[in-house]
Amino acid sequence: MTDRTRDASPPGRGMRICDVVVAGSGLAGMMTAILLARKGRKVTLLTRGSPCLAISGGCVDVLGYMDGKRVHGDPLEALQTLPASHTYRTLGKDAVVRSLALLSELCEGEGVSLAADPGLNMWMPTVLGTFKPTYLAFPRMDKDVMEAANSVIIPRLPLKDCPAELALRGFSEVAGVKGKVFLGSQLDHPFGHGHRDLTQLDLARHLETQKGQDWLVKGLAPCLRRGAVLLLPPILGIDRHAQVRKLLEGELSSPIAEMLSPPPGVGGLRILGALRRAASKAGVRIVENAEAVAADVEGGACAALHCGTSVRTSFAAREYVIATGGFLGGGIRAYPGMAREALFDLPLKVPSRIEDWSTRDVFKPQPYAAVGVAIDGSMRPVDRDGKVVLSNVRFAGRILAGHDPAAEMCGNGVALASALRCAEEVGADV
Ligand SMILES: Cc1cc2nc3c(=O)[nH]c(=O)nc-3n(C[C@H](O)[C@H](O)[C@H](O)COP(=O)(O)OP(=O)(O)OC[C@H]3O[C@@H](n4cnc5c(N)ncnc54)[C@H](O)[C@@H]3O)c2cc1C
Repeated sequence: MTDRTRDASPPGRGMRICDVVVAGSGLAGMMTAILLARKGRKVTLLTRGSPCLAISGGCVDVLGYMDGKRVHGDPLEALQTLPASHTYRTLGKDAVVRSLALLSELCEGEGVSLAADPGLNMWMPTVLGTFKPTYLAFPRMDKDVMEAANSVIIPRLPLKDCPAELALRGFSEVAGVKGKVFLGSQLDHPFGHGHRDLTQLDLARHLETQKGQDWLVKGLAPCLRRGAVLLLPPILGIDRHAQVRKLLEGELSSPIAEMLSPPPGVGGLRILGALRRAASKAGVRIVENAEAVAADVEGGACAALHCGTSVRTSFAAREYVIATGGFLGGGIRAYPGMAREALFDLPLKVPSRIEDWSTRDVFKPQPYAAVGVAIDGSMRPVDRDGKVVLSNVRFAGRILAGHDPAAEMCGNGVALASALRCAEEVGADV
């Protein structure tokens, strides 16, 4: 770690002071900032670009797989049997449970409903005709809904990236739904054929308008059957998702289920929008396009973060939470044979041979995925001997060592629980 000492007192021009600076506005950073601001802390949130949430389906995975095998039974119980080095073992089951409840409550208050099937993972249909496990998701995104229906109709929408035929082919092979999934009629292009190719995001936005809802109701009318479920890509609105879904189900007198799909992540954008609204109501000061590029460290504590890009300002606080993501988000950087945390230049533990960073089977756990910042029980970074290296800095989310979101399906679960733990450690009784 570089110990760059600056004259920190009195703060110079351009230095903004608050109680807590949070760097990174993904699920982890947003959630930390909201929880702290709701408890009266003066919080500044530094943002740079879009987080993973913006390109994801928006469901919260807690633990889908362990050692490459499906988790059967309660994932919240299973996470207590993970190895001691796993991120969840530092966070604890209690933090996971409470953070899931806090996110649900927060999203509900912003017009976005989330639901769980307590004690079990839900299996979410995808536009590829497969199912993926998750814990918390938008209502009616569950294999059970398809199994309980007499039939499942997949209407053909004018979307090139979600062909109904592909989903049908996949579901036709799956026990429980095999033989009851059918293609529905083709819907016309809502904006005329001169328009560019549509994405689910275009339709999700369109369905927040009366015109869009009329288009869908008219187009789906020929698909309706008694006891059938309509299965659509995630297009039922963004900011007013719960309202749009209820309205359309009422108009069509039919349950509508949604499938997960590749980016753009309509589901993730629903949650991101809800978090942004909640952050603004809670009084979080969001500084856009403010990439933290350097840190002043004095006597083992952070004295200030300095921003580059369009905002050349420095931020000083008593406490700092770093939620800048992993390799993808930019919180971790890889160099030949080594990896370092990007802001404080903390060295990170990696496999000694570069060949061992990954395995040939891309669906297996990847050693590089577990690379990250090692923390103590109070979320502060520690060195190889377990000694705290920054006394007023805490880390949350994907940047933490010891988990593999893709192979274990645990990304948003870790992000949420670590955000809650950081907020608690910074001093808010959340
Ligand atoms: C395509 C995709 C789909 C996924 N789907 C799911 C899913 O369905 N369910 C699930 O549970 N998990 C999923 N995950 C994993 C999950 O999204 C992440 O593990 C989790 O959201 C990470 O959140 P985070 O806030 O820690 O990091 P990120 O989302 O990476 O956010 C970090 C933010 O910090 C910003 N940043 C970086 N450096 C700086 C800096 N110096 N200053 C200021 N800001 C900075 C980044 O630009 C970014 O906006 C998915 C991931 C991907 C990539």
